[in-house]
Amino acid sequence: MNDNNHLPVWNLEALYADAESWEKDFARIEPLAKKFLAFRGKLAQSPEMLAAAISASDDFDRLVEKVYVFAHLKSDENTLINANRAKVDRVSALLAKLAPTQAWFDPELLAIDNDKIEKFLQDKALKPYEYTIRFILRRKQHSLSEPEEKMLGVLSDALGSSSNTFEILNDAELDFSKSVDEQGKRIPLTHGNYLTFLESADRNVRKKAFGKLYKTYRKFRNTFASTLEGNVKVHVAEAQLRHYDSALSAALDGDAIPVDVYHNLIEAVHSHLDAFYRYITLRKKVLKLDKLDMYDIYNPLLPACNKRYTFDEAAKLVKAALAPLGKEYGEILERAFSERWIDAPERKGKRSGAYSSGCFDSYPYLLLNFNGTLNDVFTLAHELGHSLHSYYSRTHQSYHYADYEIFVAEVASTTNEALLFEYLLKENRNDHEFCAYLYGHLADEIRGTIYRQTMFAEFEELIHSHCEKGTPLSADLLEKEYFKLNRLYYGSEVKPSRLIALEWARIPHFYYDFYVYKYATGMSAALKLAKDILSGKTDRYFGFLSAGGSKDALDIMRDAGVDLSTPAPVHAALDYFGEIVDAMQKELEFSGNGLLD
Ligand SMILES: [Zn+2]
Repeated sequence: MNDNNHLPVWNLEALYADAESWEKDFARIEPLAKKFLAFRGKLAQSPEMLAAAISASDDFDRLVEKVYVFAHLKSDENTLINANRAKVDRVSALLAKLAPTQAWFDPELLAIDNDKIEKFLQDKALKPYEYTIRFILRRKQHSLSEPEEKMLGVLSDALGSSSNTFEILNDAELDFSKSVDEQGKRIPLTHGNYLTFLESADRNVRKKAFGKLYKTYRKFRNTFASTLEGNVKVHVAEAQLRHYDSALSAALDGDAIPVDVYHNLIEAVHSHLDAFYRYITLRKKVLKLDKLDMYDIYNPLLPACNKRYTFDEAAKLVKAALAPLGKEYGEILERAFSERWIDAPERKGKRSGAYSSGCFDSYPYLLLNFNGTLNDVFTLAHELGHSLHSYYSRTHQSYHYADYEIFVAEVASTTNEALLFEYLLKENRNDHEFCAYLYGHLADEIRGTIYRQTMFAEFEELIHSHCEKGTPLSADLLEKEYFKLNRLYYGSEVKPSRLIALEWARIPHFYYDFYVYKYATGMSAALKLAKDILSGKTDRYFGFLSAGGSKDALDIMRDAGVDLSTPAPVHAALDYFGEIVDAMQKELEFSGNGLLD
């Protein structure tokens, strides 16, 4: 089916034509760092001086990104070529060496007194940087004196050791021994293949892997509780030192997100748990089980979709699905193919998975491992969403504001997926089995991205607030809280094994300091935007694509028509989830494949 010879490969020569020109730029990095460092101690001299310092910092960053992006793309193209890997290592080593010469800027800016900086900001030299400067100043009341900041800086490596211990134990030292596949063959169980076992149609295969995995975690439950507690204590202590009300508000302040956004999300999800319970009931019916356990949640409800697509067919489908975005978007999409932004084929040594990457001075490249499945078509739409978001922001913003925040990073990609979903649904209206499959696909995405991540977010806040009250985070407490939350989210139709109480132990995101809620808000926003686009309202969407990081993420989303400071977008997304579950049930009844008999 898949003829690798005809799949497109990317044009990295457009970024650097030869090794020599890359080396030339690499050699310019250190001098640019020195140029920036020369402004140290001079920021308060004049608005022009401050503007020149920011501009020097941008020149440095812009070159580093270009040099680094080429190295990492080249390396991912074929990880077996050491010379390519060596380029990445050289850039990383140089940046580590230069890092201590970069950290002075924010403290020095914050040390300028308020009246003076306000006056500076009236000067036209600083107009292009006003948003950035105010963003840094906003955190003034939470910054410490210079010696205190220095102390925290010196300690930061040591403060990360709980998190490092978790990674070493979890990724390298934990041994889950072997589980069995459908043929009874014993296979080493790893983080990488655990989900494959859980997706098996054979319940014993699922149950066995589930048991093996969590019984291993149970052996180390106190160690995992200790690494998690150590990490939470660091967040709590730093928030207290910086005079925040809570670790949560400290973490969200980094993106200028009010804590209401977080609490609204949790509340909105709580009020739509009934739709999730309906999904669970449908799952129980289709799987024909009396009761579900937690290892009955990830196996696909419907037989795998056996449709196959050539790369050209996939490209055609995606272009048609994104046509509601209009002519200009379509023309840029066309360039992704004609200018060869995409590296599509699977090949030996190539990095697995898919991503969109690039920098201000390159194409917004896409790496794929295209195999012709329906999932691969969705991945193409998703990564093109990232790439066109980057393209629009880089075209409409100066380098300084071209990068967008993590908070909005998954919005454009998920919007594209939603548009593809709606298009496929419309085009295959009479194929009930395929429609049921599509509904199942989206329902699973929403389950994983909105419900599950919000449950994680709720747990994260819970353990931080225990810690703030001085309650030790013992394994007993963590298991009790996790089990309770799991029961709330999955409802009475799931009678879970006690082992699920250990799930917290294996989630790396709990070490990321309130990160996962962004997945849930991002998807809620995307579903709303896709609806707007399909009803012809595209203007505000392009405002979002073009905004980069020139405003607070929450303002960018509000201007696009999604007000995440209210629970409305999450409510709408989960109402939609309820409709999808009902539609899926109907399609299954129509398709007459016996799944609901
Ligand atoms: Zn993505």
